[in-house]
Amino acid sequence: MAEAARGKVEVNWEECKGCGLCVESCPVQAMELSPQLNHCGAHPARQSTDKCSGCGICYYVCPEPGAVTVYRLAARTIEVHDAAVV
Ligand code: SF4
Ligand code: SF4
Repeated sequence: MAEAARGKVEVNWEECKGCGLCVESCPVQAMELSPQLNHCGAHPARQSTDKCSGCGICYYVCPEPGAVTVYRLAARTIEVHDAAVV
């Protein structure tokens, strides 16, 4: 069974300058540059897979304040109830 994503990244496309540092730094290759252009004529970064661990490296390497937001996703708890024995 595939491991659930532990993180999620949002990129503010108008703040991103398309430098690619986040793409190069992500240890699980969860980022890519979009083929689309923003108002600066840059190819903004975006999350490309659900492998994000929420480590925050892309946030720390990004030179543009406010371009990257990392969310750490809470572990989903599955409750298992025993069937009542009648
Ligand atoms: S938070 Fe970590 S794992 Fe997730 S995209 Fe950024 S560098 Fe990659
Ligand atoms: S490091 Fe920041 S500015 Fe550079 S591509 Fe990633 S989000 Fe954009």
